[in-house]
Amino acid sequence: MKTSQPTDMLIKDLPALVQHELQHPLHNLQGVIRLLGTGRFGQLSQEGSQLLNTAMANLDRLTRLAVAVEEQPAALTSMFSDEQIRLFQLKQDLPGAIAQKAIYLVYQPIVCTRSQQVVGFEALARWEHPTYGPISPTLFIPIAEESGLIHEMGKYLIEQACFQLRRWQHDNPALTISVNLSALQLSQLDLADHIGRVLLATQIAPENLKLEITESTLIENSEVVGIVLKKLRELGVQLYLDDFGTGYSSLSRLPSLPLDALKVDRSFVTNQNWDICEVILALACKLSLNVIVEGIETAEEAQILEEIGFHYMQGYFFSHPVSVQDASQLLIESNSSQGLILAAAAR
Ligand code: C2E
Ligand code: MG
Ligand code: MG
Repeated sequence: MKTSQPTDMLIKDLPALVQHELQHPLHNLQGVIRLLGTGRFGQLSQEGSQLLNTAMANLDRLTRLAVAVEEQPAALTSMFSDEQIRLFQLKQDLPGAIAQKAIYLVYQPIVCTRSQQVVGFEALARWEHPTYGPISPTLFIPIAEESGLIHEMGKYLIEQACFQLRRWQHDNPALTISVNLSALQLSQLDLADHIGRVLLATQIAPENLKLEITESTLIENSEVVGIVLKKLRELGVQLYLDDFGTGYSSLSRLPSLPLDALKVDRSFVTNQNWDICEVILALACKLSLNVIVEGIETAEEAQILEEIGFHYMQGYFFSHPVSVQDASQLLIESNSSQGLILAAAAR
């Protein structure tokens, strides 16, 4: 994405950003090198002493560089690409955006092609940056993870999604909501308690909340993740395996995982890998898992997948992720005699 503001207008903020980025690792390195130099870990060999001297010299150069950057910010334009500068800026601005609740949700319908109705929505996070415009969650979620802010943000987004579902359920009692969870959120022991409290406050039936996790989360499979997944299962919420087929999880582990559904990754649709889609569907049936296919962009793709045997679909063909207001309108269309699919085809 191109900056909408010239780079030099941001330069005044950069020394602080760069200082912030450099300070932490430099302090750590200084500490380690000093510790090694004390001799507390035994006498260093000649080679070890030489390496330590080189490390100290390099650290000194880095420290001087950090100071130079602070004193001559203009030099930064040649040192950092626009993309790196944007990343610095986003890292600096994300905490404020989270504190001000400027990260919000949009909703993409999940459609049952048999009933022609919207059966649920997937909630997707968005950030409208004042300078850079819309920032993809694939960019800001990792920043939130790195800074530890993912927990606060994730909890807030779960609340938002559940309260919105509650409002929609007034006229659509069976509607469901899917929320994405990152691996780090799943390593937080109080996550299930928080979700339990949200369910209580919103009076949503637990099975109407679907938590989407990716294969990589399960591969890591730390003891804590296992405990959290078990607690979530006990609450009665459903677990969906997102982007299925793109990770590296071993198929033999699939039956033992606490899952309710697979979401077939959109790349299989984009690349028209219909045979793979069919195999995944058969696998899901065998394991008594529900299955949703993502990334349907055309009527033709929807029809092929329907013929293969998929009945739950999501993709731009039905609707892009949209605001609460537009999603409410989609629900009205979906409940009309025309149904969402005919409405989509007519659009
Ligand atoms: P995801 O969970 O697999 O979400 C589906 C992504 O595919 C969304 O991108 C959606 O806009 C996009 N998509 C849907 N239909 C189509 C289609 O027909 N064609 C194409 N090309 N794309 C389609 P988005 O919103 O940019 O989200 C990207 C990823 O960021 C998500 O992938 C999810 O992994 C992550 N993410 C989004 N919101 C959250 C959140 O609140 N928390 C966490 N932890 N991760 C999130
Ligand atoms: Mg998802
Ligand atoms: Mg997905």
